[in-house]
Amino acid sequence: MTIQRVAIIGLGLLGGSIGLALRERAPGIVTTGFDANPHVRDVAGERGLVGTVFASPAEAARDADLVILCVPVGAMRDAAASLADALPDGAIVSDVGSSKQSVSLALAEALPGHTVIPAHPVAGTEQSGPEAGFADLFVNRWCILTPPADVDKDAVASLSAFWAGLGAKVEIMDAEHHDLVLAVTSHIPHLIAYTIVGTASDLEEVTRSEVIKYSAGGFRDFTRIAASDPVMWRDVFLNNKGAVLEMLGRFTEDLTAMQRAIRSGDGEALHDLFTRTRAIRREVIDQGQDDERPDFGRSDHA
Ligand code: NAP
Repeated sequence: MTIQRVAIIGLGLLGGSIGLALRERAPGIVTTGFDANPHVRDVAGERGLVGTVFASPAEAARDADLVILCVPVGAMRDAAASLADALPDGAIVSDVGSSKQSVSLALAEALPGHTVIPAHPVAGTEQSGPEAGFADLFVNRWCILTPPADVDKDAVASLSAFWAGLGAKVEIMDAEHHDLVLAVTSHIPHLIAYTIVGTASDLEEVTRSEVIKYSAGGFRDFTRIAASDPVMWRDVFLNNKGAVLEMLGRFTEDLTAMQRAIRSGDGEALHDLFTRTRAIRREVIDQGQDDERPDFGRSDHA
């Protein structure tokens, strides 16, 4: 099946970027969209994020081959339910949610009998909303599909080809494994960033203005992540509770080991770890997942 008509539900960073990427890379595909927020619908229309913005999800999805839900994880069930009576036979329903087990269940329950293939493009920024999207967001980024075992294989192939057409590299895994991997690579780093920025802002011995003034020492890199959308991240932690708590347990043990190494003056343990982590940074760069330039190419080195 070749996808010709795509409906995007939720026209913020992810939904808008899919629309812009399609406009640029597959102009023959007809795009429609809906967002629950009227202001977002207006901006989406002005920016041309999709060909036609509709005032209801049912109208947007009526003729679609592929419907992609781009709403916060906690809103997926309602967004899917709002389509139940409008979906054409044979349409693929997918999403971009950052956690997969709870979303897969919510979509399957809301849309029984439909072809549901959950997905997660591992691409984003700390910005959100309809102004934030851009056409190249998915280029050279992974998109993980988590198809249920009994889903139509041709539909999985069509969705894989769709994401490859947006510039993404496609990987298939089960939802449980996805949630564990992303807990380590994304969810815990966000939790750490939210915590360290919160801790710094609560300190009494160091003033808030000093924290900001000297932030180039490392703190400002955490503030980028900690500026991420509060609704999105609240929902991620509430929906990937098991994997996040498991990985947080591991992290806490490792942090305790670091505490012990510092207290006992174990320089070798510190040096060993920092050497291993530097090699991981090298691999991230070698695999094209980040900018090689010092300090991410910023000009004001400090
Ligand atoms: P966003 O910019 O805030 O956009 C989400 C949009 O969905 C908002 O305009 C929101 O309106 C709207 N919405 C909420 N409930 C809705 C519903 N029931 N029906 C229709 N529209 C609804 O968020 P985003 O960053 O694009 O994230 C969307 C999804 O992508 C999330 O599931 C997130 O986990 C996933 N994701 C995000 C990133 C990232 O870096 N941001 C990366 C990968 C995946 P209101 O604002 O008025 O609620």
